Order: sequence, then C-alpha cells, then structure tokens
Amino acid sequence: MGWTITIGRVAGTEVKVHLTFFILVAFWAMGGYREGGATGAVLATLSLLALFACIVLHEFGHILVARRFGIQTPDVILLPIGGVARLQRIPDEPRQELLIALGGPAVTFAIVVLLYLWLTALGRDPQLWGLRPDGPFLETMMQVNLYLLLFNLVPAFPMDGGRVLRALLASRLGLVEGTRIAARLGQACAVLAGFYALTTGRGLLVLVALFVFLGAGAEAAAVETRAAGAGLSAAQMMVTHFRSIPIHATLAEAVELLLSGEQREFPVVDNLGRVEGILTRDHIIKGLSQRGAGSIVGEVMAAQAPLVAPTLGFQEALERLRASGLPALPVVDATGRLVGLLTMDNITDLLLVRRAGSPLST
Ligand SMILES: [Zn+2]
Repeated sequence: MGWTITIGRVAGTEVKVHLTFFILVAFWAMGGYREGGATGAVLATLSLLALFACIVLHEFGHILVARRFGIQTPDVILLPIGGVARLQRIPDEPRQELLIALGGPAVTFAIVVLLYLWLTALGRDPQLWGLRPDGPFLETMMQVNLYLLLFNLVPAFPMDGGRVLRALLASRLGLVEGTRIAARLGQACAVLAGFYALTTGRGLLVLVALFVFLGAGAEAAAVETRAAGAGLSAAQMMVTHFRSIPIHATLAEAVELLLSGEQREFPVVDNLGRVEGILTRDHIIKGLSQRGAGSIVGEVMAAQAPLVAPTLGFQEALERLRASGLPALPVVDATGRLVGLLTMDNITDLLLVRRAGSPLST
C-alpha cells in the first residue's frame, strides 16, 4: 500500500500513517476552529493526537496476541477508520483469529474502564455519551474510545467485528466460504453506510465506507487465491514451453522473437545457458526508442530479476513475482539450469482451471 509515512518502529513492527488519516485531522481541526477559533483548532488537534495514541495501543493489542501464536506483524497502518495491523499470515485456526481480533477491542475497552474509574475517583461524574468539542479532555477521550470500541465491533469485515464473525463462520464453513460471507456482509454494510452518508452529507463516513468496501473485496480475493493455489509448487505453476534469448543478441533479433509468437517475456541466458536476467516487451520497446535496433539485449534487460526455485511454494512464488514488479520470473533448479518461466498470466489461467475443476468451488 502506497501513500503512507513511517513514523516509528515498536517491538519489530513499523508504525505507518496513511495520508488520508490527515483528512481526519483536518476535519477535526476545522470542527475545533468553528467552536473555539484558533485555540479550539489546536486543542482539537491535540485531542486527535491523543486518540491516535489510543488507536496505536489498540493495534498493539492485536499484534501482541498474534505474536503469542507465533505470527509476526511487519507493519501497522493508521487509516481514518482506525488502524490496520498487517499480520504476516492469517492464523491457521479460527480460534486464534477470534482471539487476535478481540485483542484490540480489549485494549480499547480497558482504556475506557481506566479513564472512567480515574474520573470517578476524581469525583468528576463522567458521562459515557454526549460527545462535545469543548468537553473536558479526559472525558472526551473516554467517550471517543467508547465510540471507537462500538464502531470496531460492527460486524463489517475487515473491521474487528467482521473478523470475529469470519472466525465464527470459518470454524463451521471453512476459511474460504466464511471469508466470502463475511466480506459480502461487510460490503453490504459499507454500501448502506455509504448511501446514508451521501444522503446526509457526511463526507468522512463516505470515506470510511469506501475503505471497508475495498478492504473486504481485497481480503476475500486474497483468501480465495491462496485456497485455489494451496499445495502447488513453482514447478506446477510455471510455463515449460518458452524461448530464451542470448544476452549478446541484438534488439532487432529480440523483436523478431517477440513477433514470432505469443511469448512476451524472455529469460536472458549467457553462452553457458546461465540465467542473466529477463527481457520484457516493455524493455524491447523502450530499448528500441532510446538506443536503436542495433543495441544488445544485455543493455536493456532487467539484470536483477530474482530467481525462483521449482520447489518454492505457491504463496511464496506469487509474492516474489508481485514484489519483483516484473511480469515474469525465471525458474532455475538447484544445478542452475533454467527449467521454466513463472508468469502472472499463466498463474491466473491455472487458478481459473483449478477453481473450475475443484469440488470446493460453488
Ligand atoms: Zn482492531
């Protein structure tokens, strides 16, 4: 996910802020300004930063429970709808996901209880409801955290309540079906909330609904892809009929190869058949316009293309291909021999075939 700024690193997890979070800051500051001028805007912004700290604590509730189950969290991103702790993987057992999903709300609940007890001990008679911009700071914090808690527990996947629902569904229906139902429900909630927000002119809620809608779709798609590819290795995913091109070939020869068939990405090999890189259609076109048809393949190819071992698992191979930013990667066995070509097109075809033939697909 782009559009983020890293603001720190806690216990092995990078804390990042999505730029849209600052839209929330702007809304909040504008509200403060309308109520109390410049001072109001500053106070409102400070309150929001305190809330921001509470959200980080909430996320670390998820992260610490996940760590107990051996799942690391490389980063946590703060969005206007709250935070998203990006776990390394989905826990294998629904029970674990249930506990991880509840870890964040448990922290928020604890913040509300502690602030309530503290304010009561001070003799302030704290009110749980009735948020107002000029309310006392700690009472406001308590109220906002309470709203946050209830909001997070709405069963709209991918929010915490939706994850709890997915875990409950998955324990009976399996991960794919459970996720599909939870995601559809989340998207339905998002559409309703979005419609309500548009008709009542609540801009921030439109944004939240959009995040929920897109998040639910992306998560469901990721789970389905993972399930469709379960048990596959790179050797089963790769193209085995392909042409490679010598590193000293000219671009004119590359063009001939490109136009002679359907293949668009070519592994580049040296005289001994070792893989030196990958040449894509884009490389050829760019090379032609910048250097001319007489220049050689070695000058325009991607030389740093990561290699894939035939034994690499489905998810790892897919992630390596995505991370490379290239449309194809060479598959090379332990002896250094080029045995295949991993392409996104071929993986897509394979998954379609597997889904069509799988008794699990409905
Ligand atoms: Zn949460």
